[in-house]
Amino acid sequence: DRRIGVLALQGDVREHVAALNACGAEAVPVRRRAELDAVDGLVIPGGESTAMSRLLGVFDLYEPLVGRLREGLPAYGSCAGMILLASTILDTRDDARHLDALDITVRRNAFGRQVESFETDLAFAGITDLPDADPMRAVFIRAPWVERTGPGVEVLASVQDGPAAGRVVAVRQGNVMATSFHPEVTGDVRVHQFFVDMVGAA
Ligand code: GLN
Repeated sequence: DRRIGVLALQGDVREHVAALNACGAEAVPVRRRAELDAVDGLVIPGGESTAMSRLLGVFDLYEPLVGRLREGLPAYGSCAGMILLASTILDTRDDARHLDALDITVRRNAFGRQVESFETDLAFAGITDLPDADPMRAVFIRAPWVERTGPGVEVLASVQDGPAAGRVVAVRQGNVMATSFHPEVTGDVRVHQFFVDMVGAA
């Protein structure tokens, strides 16, 4: 059976562990290198990307994690996790390091002060296009959006209406995926199931 880690330096770790367990996956928090070495996939949760970036250094996880991602470790980043996986980040601190595992440019806190946190229904490729599937309720909390996608990057979801309509909020490149929103807070585990299936197929 595949074991899926949740990076547990900061952020909403327990919610991701619960969502992965609800999908039948074995989920374990990852704080040390030995724990990272023992997983077949990794979720990077929401939280604060600059704090998580600093803690990756403090816990000596930055280089090992970059190494595992280069070797093809499947990864899913939500919100701050998307920021950490990106190749280019706009509006971050100059000293914030990131993992450079997804060929995208993201803008932090992109939705602006008026709409810091909001919810909306989305179509999600590979999930809501299945027969009889409901739209996906997506919760955004001081979220980034994706401003550029490289040639190998597939767009899985975009905002459908309102002032941010058309903004890309879910992407996948090979074994790495990311969402601007927080599926772990809605009780809808379809994004986690999608990732569990990706890890199983890897
Ligand atoms: N705004 C946060 C950051 O830039 C991300 C917010 C979140 O993960 N909910 O890291």
